[in-house]
Amino acid sequence: MLLTEQQEMIKSVARSIAKDYIEPRAMEVDKTGEFPWDNIKVMAENGLFGVHVPEEYGGVGSDMISHVAVVEEIAKVCASTSVALSTQALATAPFLIAGTEEQKKKYVTALATGESLGSFGITEPGAGSDVASLKTTAVPDGNDYILNGQKVFITNAGESGIYVFVTRTSEHRTKGITLFIVEDGTPGLSFGKKEDKMGIRGSVTREVLLENVRVPKENMLGAEGEGFKILMKVFNETRPVVGAQATGIAQGALDYCLDYVKERKQFGKEIHQFQMVQSKLADMAMKIESSRLLVQKAARMLDNEDKNVAGYSSMAKCFASDTAMEVTTDAVQLVGGYGYIKEYPVERMMRDAKITQIYEGTNQIQRVIIANHLINE
Ligand SMILES: Cc1cc2nc3c(=O)[nH]c(=O)nc-3n(C[C@H](O)[C@H](O)[C@H](O)COP(=O)(O)OP(=O)(O)OC[C@H]3O[C@@H](n4cnc5c(N)ncnc54)[C@H](O)[C@@H]3O)c2cc1C
Repeated sequence: MLLTEQQEMIKSVARSIAKDYIEPRAMEVDKTGEFPWDNIKVMAENGLFGVHVPEEYGGVGSDMISHVAVVEEIAKVCASTSVALSTQALATAPFLIAGTEEQKKKYVTALATGESLGSFGITEPGAGSDVASLKTTAVPDGNDYILNGQKVFITNAGESGIYVFVTRTSEHRTKGITLFIVEDGTPGLSFGKKEDKMGIRGSVTREVLLENVRVPKENMLGAEGEGFKILMKVFNETRPVVGAQATGIAQGALDYCLDYVKERKQFGKEIHQFQMVQSKLADMAMKIESSRLLVQKAARMLDNEDKNVAGYSSMAKCFASDTAMEVTTDAVQLVGGYGYIKEYPVERMMRDAKITQIYEGTNQIQRVIIANHLINE
């Protein structure tokens, strides 16, 4: 898909930042599991957190096509760092969809400029794929609401300044769900230990506890009982972003392999001369290109406010993440024994790829959504 001049320009800014600042530290970030604040700072200074956000709220005022291009470029070199971008998009989306003007001015501006990181707390110990079974409560008390509950696997928890929590305000399974904004430092908000993960090791994932967290009713995001609907719209916007992340991881692995197969010799010739190696490379490239096109299609539908986007957002996320897992596994195979060793980047890419099949709805759930979309359209 041809990008406009502006989209190409934004993508090339992301590519240079990725090459100059982020790639050189990717292996170290994975090894130490340290949260890459320096990368966050560079991305913030260059406007990468607000590419698709309107200028009036501190963004660049471009579109989703540009945003997914940026996420792909960063993920190509360091998936952990790209999670900061995708999570910021996840935290920004409910404000853009349902926020009041005041909330957008205050919170979206902070998120788009990278002044604050944001987290979106949906998942609970008993509510993963079945989001609507969540138990965290928000109970009115005068002009305030009191929040109580436990969230798990929350990205950037403890690093973020702005949290959006999905809570229950009545017993109705879906119409009893309401979103609330909680600022860091609010009494009763605390964090559990950092999870020790297989991949995206430089991204922080933590449990969050809400114990009598008091917030003014102005912190309700969207109307009471509208939370589930908002959440579904949020996922339509953010699943293509996870697809872009997966596409970047896969492209990074293919790029590495292409250099490797031209250098490595066995049986007296470079291994790229073997047809079985060529066949694998061709399959990898075809699947990556298809992923990118699906991601761009969903992004374009979002830019055009197309109401049928849900199925395509799920297709983009599901296909691209399955591709990332397959391509990175093949990349390890093509690099042979060295591919299995941590000094070479492809094993990291394989570990990083796995999460894209799990978060923001597992790929089984994406298939349920796609099938519903096909059957009910
Ligand atoms: C690194 C990381 C970061 C995360 N970041 C966040 C975050 O920032 N915010 C947040 O709220 N959450 C976050 N999550 C949570 C993530 O979105 C959930 O883990 C995910 O949605 C799956 O939920 P679960 O782990 O409870 O699995 P479960 O829902 O228990 O699923 C277990 C298995 O059952 C399958 N399954 C379940 N229901 C069905 C069905 N109806 N049909 C077919 N198969 C089904 C699933 O596909 C899966 O294979 C994160 C998770 C991780 C690991």
